[in-house]
Amino acid sequence: MRLVVLGTSCSNPTVERNLTATALQFEGNWFLFDCPEGTQRQMMKSGVSYMRIHSIFLSHFHADHVLGLPGLIATMAMHERDVPLYVYGPKGTKKEIEKIMDLALMRKNFEIRVKEVGKGKVCKEEKYEIDSFPLKHGVPCIGYVFKEKDKAGTFQREKALKLGIPEGPLWSKLQKGEKVKVKGKAFKPEQVMDYSNGRKGKKVAIVMDTLPSDSYFDTIKDSDVLVHESSFLEKHITRAKETKHCTAKQAAWVAEQTKAKKLVLVHISPRYKKNKDVENEARQEFGNVVVPKDLEEIEV
Ligand SMILES: [Zn+2]
Ligand SMILES: [Zn+2]
Repeated sequence: MRLVVLGTSCSNPTVERNLTATALQFEGNWFLFDCPEGTQRQMMKSGVSYMRIHSIFLSHFHADHVLGLPGLIATMAMHERDVPLYVYGPKGTKKEIEKIMDLALMRKNFEIRVKEVGKGKVCKEEKYEIDSFPLKHGVPCIGYVFKEKDKAGTFQREKALKLGIPEGPLWSKLQKGEKVKVKGKAFKPEQVMDYSNGRKGKKVAIVMDTLPSDSYFDTIKDSDVLVHESSFLEKHITRAKETKHCTAKQAAWVAEQTKAKKLVLVHISPRYKKNKDVENEARQEFGNVVVPKDLEEIEV
């Protein structure tokens, strides 16, 4: 799994920062979270293949999150993309995508499959699943969680037979991590499972424009990486409330409360010139925080 921060600014791009977008690679496919102006070139600079974009997850339709979409779709069409592109977003996304496709004589040589999402399962594949959840912004806004499925380890049938656990439904329970009972005697999965080649799947949460709120804590808890908006510093908290955004300290509070392993702060107001100022404020609440530079790769 690779996680590339394509941009980190909000409202408008600056010389140092492009607008916020994040790309996640899993088994050869790229998943793109938001597509503001300039995203195509950021992708090219960081080796994110625009032809390998499987799905685009839009948080909302404010300009600083979606204006790169027509350009990206036009480039895909120009290069004869022939596989469907999946686009997810809040209520209204279908209409918005239709409008985009009416722009500037866009060619339509591949299918765009749009799905409007709210709270729940976006997709469930063999090796991963994606959930969405509503955020608290001025317009409908959606956050996403990408979850790699756990690798279970190996079931050791000889051990199970030796312990007197008969083949059948009890074996699959043990494989799923549940305890079982045989003739009143309890057995734990670790007695028959070899976990040395198994591991817990990684979880990455992307939380864009929002007021801090415990309404989405459940879905994002225990994330390996939490990418969170951090538009303001505490000294501008009034502005953050008015525009329904977070401060760095509030984003760090979210990470702390949801037991994230790592916090990545993006969507930084152009008024702040130094990453360190944002990072230091967040660190008061949460230790493992980074304010990345554009095109930085984050270890998951
Ligand atoms: Zn924004
Ligand atoms: Zn917004």
